[in-house]
Formats: sequence, C-alpha cells, structure tokens
Amino acid sequence: MKPYVKQDPWSIIEEGFDPQKQEISESLFSIGNGHTGQRANFEETYSGSSLQGSYMAGVYYPDKTRVGWWKNGYPEYFAKVLNATNWIGLKLIIDGTELDLAKVEVTDFRRELNMKEGFLKRTFTAKLSPEKRVHIKAVRFVSMARKEIGALSYELTPEGFSGQLELESYLDGDIKNTDANYDEKFWDPVNQSVNGMRASVTVKTKKLDFHYCTVKETEIHQNGSYTPIESTPVLRDKYAGVRADIALKDGEATTIYKYTAHVTNRDHAKEALQAKAEQALEAALQAGFKQLQKEQAEAWETKWLDSDIVIEGDTAAQQGIRFNIFQLNQTYTGEDARLNIGPKGFTGEKYGGSTYWDTEAYCLPFYLATADSRIARNLLVYRWNQLGKAKENAAKLGFTKGALYPMVTMNGEESHNEWEITFEEIHRNGAIAYAVYQYTDYTGDTSYIEEAGIEVLVEISRFWEDRVLYNKRRGAYMMLGVTGPNEYENNVNNNWYTNRIAAWTLSCTLDTLTAWKEKQPELFTTWQKQLGITDDELTKWGDIRSNMYEPYDEETGVFLQQDGFLDKELMAVSELEEKHLPLNQNWSWDRILRSCFIKQADVLQGLHFLNHEYDDETKRRNFDFYEPMTVHESSLSPCVHAVLACELGYEAKAYDMYLRTARLDLDNYNNDTEDGCHITSMAGTWMAVVQGFGGMRVRNGELHLNPVLPENWDGYSFKIVFGGARLLIRVAKSGITVINETNQSVELSVNGSRITASANQEVKSG
Ligand code: BGC
Repeated sequence: MKPYVKQDPWSIIEEGFDPQKQEISESLFSIGNGHTGQRANFEETYSGSSLQGSYMAGVYYPDKTRVGWWKNGYPEYFAKVLNATNWIGLKLIIDGTELDLAKVEVTDFRRELNMKEGFLKRTFTAKLSPEKRVHIKAVRFVSMARKEIGALSYELTPEGFSGQLELESYLDGDIKNTDANYDEKFWDPVNQSVNGMRASVTVKTKKLDFHYCTVKETEIHQNGSYTPIESTPVLRDKYAGVRADIALKDGEATTIYKYTAHVTNRDHAKEALQAKAEQALEAALQAGFKQLQKEQAEAWETKWLDSDIVIEGDTAAQQGIRFNIFQLNQTYTGEDARLNIGPKGFTGEKYGGSTYWDTEAYCLPFYLATADSRIARNLLVYRWNQLGKAKENAAKLGFTKGALYPMVTMNGEESHNEWEITFEEIHRNGAIAYAVYQYTDYTGDTSYIEEAGIEVLVEISRFWEDRVLYNKRRGAYMMLGVTGPNEYENNVNNNWYTNRIAAWTLSCTLDTLTAWKEKQPELFTTWQKQLGITDDELTKWGDIRSNMYEPYDEETGVFLQQDGFLDKELMAVSELEEKHLPLNQNWSWDRILRSCFIKQADVLQGLHFLNHEYDDETKRRNFDFYEPMTVHESSLSPCVHAVLACELGYEAKAYDMYLRTARLDLDNYNNDTEDGCHITSMAGTWMAVVQGFGGMRVRNGELHLNPVLPENWDGYSFKIVFGGARLLIRVAKSGITVINETNQSVELSVNGSRITASANQEVKSG
C-alpha cells in the first residue's frame, strides 16, 4: 500500500476515507498519556473492519499459555495488556439512518493527529440521502495534565434539513482481546449505573482481581450553549448508556461532549473506585472542554521544550521524527515505577504490552536525554522491584544463585514461551546491568546504585557465574546453548555478544564495589553484609572476567557471532533475489537458522554498547563483515547500524538505515502497522539522529558531540538534558551552535574540543 499520510511538520494528516486503511490509521492516530491509550477508532458505530483498542497501563491478564509441545520451565501464562472499556462510543441515528461510515456516503474526510497540542481531530460530511448531509467535527484527547481524564467533543451540523437525532452515549466494558489464546473474555461485570446523563461501568478481570471503573458525563450544547436534555438509561452487564432524542436544526451545530474518568484499583481502593472517578470527573467538568484542551496544549508544550528535534529542508523527515517522539512521550511518562514500555505501547495488542529488553537497550537513552532524570530512574526502579521474581526465575530454570530477568514480563515473571527465547536469550540480563551503568554515568546520580542498583548488578553477576562453564581444554569460561540478539540462530555456543556483555557486567560490578570500597567504605561493608558478598565470590568474578572466551577470527579480524559462524555459507543479502525477502515470510524457519543471515545487530550491538572500548578499525572490520549479511527484520536493527555507520564515516549507509526507521509506521514499511506502532524502535530512530548524526556520547560523565549533517538536510537541531542544563544543539552547513537554555552552565566537547556552554548563552563551534 502506498504511503498516504500527508506531510506536515506538526501533524499526521489523512485525507479521504479508505476503509482499507482504517486499521493502519487506527494505530497511527492513537492517543495516550502514559496512563491510558486509545486507538483511533471512530466514536460512532463502524461496521467495517476495525481493531477496537482502549488500554489501561499496568492492567493485564495472565492468559494461559498456548503451546504445541510443553517444556519444563515454560511460564504458565502470557501476560497481556487488556483491551478495556470503550469510552468513546456514540450511537447516532439521524432521522432513522444510523451514522456508520461503512454504510453511508462520506466526503471531505480528514483526520489529523495534532502532535504539537496532543489531540485527534476528524472532520467529514456524511450524505444520509440525496437531500440530507451532516457535517461532523470530532476532537478527542486523553489528558496529560489529569491522567485519569479523557474527553471528546462531537459536533454535528445538518445541511439541507432539520431532523431528529437518536443518541446513545455509552460505556461498553464487554470487550475482548483479539489476541486471547483461548478466545475467552477477560472481564467480569461488577456494576453499571446511570444517573441522568452520567453513566458508570466497573468491570474486573477474571483473574488477578484488577478492578477498572469508568464514569462519564454527556453534555449537549446547541448554538454554543448548554442544553438540558431528557434521557433514558440503557443498562446491561458491563454496559451503561444514556439515550436521548435531540432536535437538529438545519445549519446549526449540536455538540456532544463526553467527559470520562478512568480509575483502577492499582491506584485506589476497590471500594472507593466509583467515588474517586466521580471526583476526578467533577473537576474535569468544572474545568470544561476548552480548559482541558488548553492544559493539554500546555503539557505538550513542556514535553516538546525538552525533546523536540527540528529537521530543516525535509518535511517527511521532520514529521517522522516528531511522530516518534510524540508516541514515546504518549507511551511512558515516568511517574509510576510499576509501568514500563511495551513494544507497541498503547497502539495495539501485539507483544502483549509487556516489557522486553527493548526498554534498556533502546528506550532508556531517549528518556535519559529528554526528561528529568526521575523518569529514566523509574525504568530502573521497575527492574529493581522485580529482582525477587528474577531470582525466582533463575531458580526455576535450575540455577543455584543469581537473577535472570525475563525476556518478556508484566510483573517480573517470565511470559515468553518459546524455548530458544525463554531459556536461551539470556543476554537480556546484560542490558539491564548496562542500564544501571548508563544511568549513573549519564546523570552522575549515584543514589540509584547505592540504594538499589548494586543489588541488581550483584545478582546478575551471580547468575553469570552460575551460567558459565569452565572449559579446561581452552582454559577459558564459555557459554553454551544460547541465543544472541540475532534470533535467526538458536542454541549456539559462545555468542560473542552474550559472553562479552556477561564479562562486562562482572567488570562493572567489581569496579563499582572497588570504587565504593575506597570512597565509602562503610557503605561497602553494609553491602557486603546485606548482599552476602564474599571474597571468594569476588575472586571468582575477577577470574571469569579475565578468562571469558570471546570467539575471534585472526584472519578476518572479526569477533565471531558464535563459534561455528564461519562454517556457514557466507553471502551478502544483496546476493539474494528480491523474492526471498523478507526471509521470515519466504523461508522455512529451518532454512533461516542454517543461513548466515542476521536478523538484527548482534556483534554490532556489543560494539554499540561498549563503543568506548574498541577502536575505529575494530568497529569498521566488524561492521563491514556483518552488516552486509544483516536483513534488519527486527525494527530494532537499523538504528544501531545507523549510529555505528555515522561513527565510521559511512554517511550514505547511515542515512539509508535512518530512513528505514524514521517513517517505519507512517509509511507502513513493514506492512504491519495495523497491529500497532513500533514504539520501542521509535526510540531507536531518536538514537539514530542524536547519537548517529549528532554523534552524542556520554563517557565517564562527560558529554561529547561529533555531529555530521546528512546531505539531504539543510540543518537540524536537537535538545538534550544534561548536567542539570537543557542544551539545544543546532547543526547547520555554517557550523555547530550549542545554546544553553537554562541557568546551569555545563562543559562538553564538540568535535574533540572542550567548550563551556554557560548559562543562557550560545556557543558556536566549527
Ligand atoms: C526482536 C527482539 C525484541 C522483540 C520485541 C523481536 O523481533 O528480535 O530483540 O525484543 O522483537 O521488540
């Protein structure tokens, strides 16, 4: 399908209604506020093909695992984010004809996601009969300023007639997840009620006892002012609506306002849910739609102040990067350490809304550099809170010590049930340790390591100690039977990346303990006691770190993705005929596994993380060897390659890689946007711009920039929050400008020269 989104720097725009594109657009035009998320489903009935989706962060369901051949150690369930009460629904019958875009003629359809101010707007004209037209304008948002509030306005203006509108404004909690393993419904009714124009529905999950209450008030305005309306209740299990007859006048606007409050027993006592929702709703009603929308615009203004990227001379690129930043900020807002970032955010059901290593490996840098450090810190606290479960997970798989974080989780327990991933993709533990280091190095805030991070590092180190095997013949530690980040090879021995990140974790833990032993011996002693750290253990970790086997080929000078990699038939992706690609749709799994083709950065993931430990020649040799064999069939792949390519001066390659991520969803590049947007890969796009073209690195607490300007751009600028300051970095043909927008002065280096960006000053360089 050809890209259809109109290019605009601040909005995503669709013009003309095409039912074939509806599910893609429902993903693209999704709205969210970190607490709830809503696909761009229509308010009015739509009988065409649609994926209804309304999600509540942190409310999930343990759906019984479905698997062909059970293996000991598999998780009992796959945790799924729940598709929840539909709060936007309006049933509209105008003079006997139901408004349903699959059934009536539609003209002038326009849908706009306004990213600057955070709302979704839709306008169209429905032709009910040759004489009767109705113009519709619908606006909605979920409030960033009041997390439990969602609001919509739906304006109808008849043309050529005056008539009768039969309205049913409803909440429908009888919702199913389309990805339910056994086609079950996950919600049970608790209560539903109607009082005048107010309705409420409380539902609870069949397992885990999550209670979810939605209360809504419907208001009708005609000629710009509030109009009291007689209504009748419509009640059944999990459903509450108000029905009203409203006279529509030719040429005059009737507006239906729907204010909704969503609360759960994650935040409030079960018994108090309805009262809490009513309280939040009352305050929203007092404020009114205009004020709520103003607050929304202000909240987004603040987000953009910290995180915007401007690309000059390329509207498609500008729209692409803003869309990615917008979706990331809609998905995770960082106030609640119990929440995390699902690969599809709130835009679909795929991946169950659960947490993957994507958070640490791809998303953390974005939140670190574009928001207050508390936001990124909460991502780390999330893992710390789940340390107990990670220890249980290691024990469940037969380890005697340490913690193995799950590959996929909602509450700390493993949810994934493919053996090669659940049991073998243990490299994820390394990314979680790396995040502790990255956060501390970037922010200079040692409090996380002191309060929690050290325990995470120690327990992950213990796991590696237990997982390695000492091979006498080679005199080295090894790791057999693993899957690296490249999921197109399973059960391999000595995946370089896994061995390397394990050895690195041990180093990081030992270095941290040594540093604290010197600077805060009392705290070190407390850790020793609390965590039971022994000298023998430290000696063992030192030995593993120094003697970890890291497969390397002398002849080519490359690290080997795994012991047997060179035995494969090596060829470049460019040698394959087009018809074979993507491999995952055209080849049997067996053929993929035996081939040399790589799904996503693997050795190169290690060179990306541990960038400072390798010289350019080493990076170049490995990049030149592995990238040509990489099919980039994970959306997480191109960004890492873009960053490395920039560093190596492969600008055309970097730009090509960047393009593969920048508009991945907007142009439906992978033909799967209808399932939801690739939220975690969006952080990779940000990385491609800021760490790639901007060459931003932080090492030993120092900020370095090494910017390049892609040929197709006139210039670009990005924001970073660093050292208590917010910097605007502008890269143009005429040189680089660093503007310090705050009162805190910071030091940094640009192209190798140290400069001071003094408070509220501008410095030019190069
Ligand atoms: C990738 C994983 C990733 C997962 C979720 C898979 O296709 O191979 O690395 O964690 O998607 O984004």
